[in-house]
Amino acid sequence: MVDVYRNCIAGQWVECKTKATFPNVNPANTKETVGLFQASGPGDIQEACEAAAKAQPAWAAMPGPLRGEFLHKAAEIMESRLQKLSEEMTREEGKTLPEAKGEVKRAVNILRYFGGEGPRQFCYQIPSERESVFCYTLRKPLGVVALITPWNFPSAIPAWKMAPALVAGNTVVIKPASLAPLSAYRIVEALQEAGIPGGVLNYVTGSGGSVGNALIEHPAIRAISFTGSCDVGNALYDKVTKRKVRLQLEMGGKNPTIVLKDADLDYAASVLVNGAFFSTGQKCTACSRAIIEKDIHGALVERLTARTKKLKVGNGLEPGIEIGPAVDANQLETDLKYIEIAKREGAKLLCGGNRLTGGVFDLGYFVEPTIFAGVTPEMRIAQEEVFGPVLALMVANDFEDAMRLANGVRFGLSASIVSRDLTRVHQFINRIEAGLITVNLPTAGVEYQLPFGGTKESSFGMREQGPAALDFYTETRTVYLKYTQ
Ligand code: NAP
Repeated sequence: MVDVYRNCIAGQWVECKTKATFPNVNPANTKETVGLFQASGPGDIQEACEAAAKAQPAWAAMPGPLRGEFLHKAAEIMESRLQKLSEEMTREEGKTLPEAKGEVKRAVNILRYFGGEGPRQFCYQIPSERESVFCYTLRKPLGVVALITPWNFPSAIPAWKMAPALVAGNTVVIKPASLAPLSAYRIVEALQEAGIPGGVLNYVTGSGGSVGNALIEHPAIRAISFTGSCDVGNALYDKVTKRKVRLQLEMGGKNPTIVLKDADLDYAASVLVNGAFFSTGQKCTACSRAIIEKDIHGALVERLTARTKKLKVGNGLEPGIEIGPAVDANQLETDLKYIEIAKREGAKLLCGGNRLTGGVFDLGYFVEPTIFAGVTPEMRIAQEEVFGPVLALMVANDFEDAMRLANGVRFGLSASIVSRDLTRVHQFINRIEAGLITVNLPTAGVEYQLPFGGTKESSFGMREQGPAALDFYTETRTVYLKYTQ
């Protein structure tokens, strides 16, 4: 018997108007349906937006510290279910159980962090140039906000949008990715159980083209926070900017790791394997280009391929598995398509390159971690996001050449360097075109208490997470008060 999950509108768990559902399938075992979710339509979005608009004034009027309490309670509820929620995430998205546990824990931390922002929504008091005039700012919520999330971090991303939106006094309509809607459902469920008032948080599943589109076009929506592909994000930008809705887009990347000749090669190899292949390369911050100084290229490649060949691919629920499946048949097809393109364009396949088949592999969408050498900047594998376990190696003549290669893409999400040369490291930090910069660390692995976001075509609008998140979900009002007449 497969569980059926409902929408949450006005505090009630309801079926969608058409009563139709769609399946959430385990990508490691396609015989398993993780759950059935509501195939909602514009009518359901209409109800959700109306409920959110109705609930918003009272929610905004509630003192911030009390709003924060709901987040703290939800964090406790989720933490008490850590094992169950992590297993569900592995079953719906495919990432390994330790990765899923890390993500659920991160969602819990995000709820706690923003729960703590309830009593801490600081404003400014600034001296006036006039006598007896007292000047200060207020933070006000925007109203109803729309959150649209991708499948690859199905708990953390909904959490890092919902928590700051709610604690700031906004009401929310969230549409999670159709490939992994259960993890976001569990956060909404925890907040409902924590007693958050009806209508404050509304959850509606359904296809992006129908539900997502109706949501962004709804006149009650004052802000949209979207994470996903550039194609969808850019189309969304075109549709909503003329309405002057506040917009935040977090999109794709083609993230480089530069390895300079002074690097410890074993360490550099571990940084590359972690950045490129963990979470099956399905992280927006995954490393997809390794830019290696020519003097160390041969020795590093040897270590890198040796490590990569040892990675254990399989069902992420099994102990010892390091790399799970592609999330669905489309993503698998994309991975294999780019592998073929890279071969055709003349890149040299060093390892991987195939779909894994036979036995349990036939049940899911497994692809070998793949490395290409001899990649040059004009190749598509050097320019386009694959979003799978495919790493392109590029040779740099020197540091300047490495910087030119690293910045020579339209994206600018994350970037890293492996080096002990302090001067080069600082030059890299100053000149790399990326929103997230790491040194002697993988390109991926961000923390919730710091601002997150990219530059160039990877992102648009204000930063997410950390103290920056509240800036997106609030607007500043300025008060001039003369206390004499
Ligand atoms: P996607 O296809 O763009 O989908 C993202 C979300 O948008 C989903 O909820 C999707 O719904 C919805 N959507 C699709 N079409 C829509 C439309 N016309 N109007 C409104 N919403 C619509 O992206 P994805 O495949 O889920 O995620 C992978 C991408 O996300 C990669 O490019 C990755 O780099 C990026 N990403 C970026 C970050 C970051 O912070 N920069 C983080 C994670 C992922 P359906 O699921 O129903 O199609």
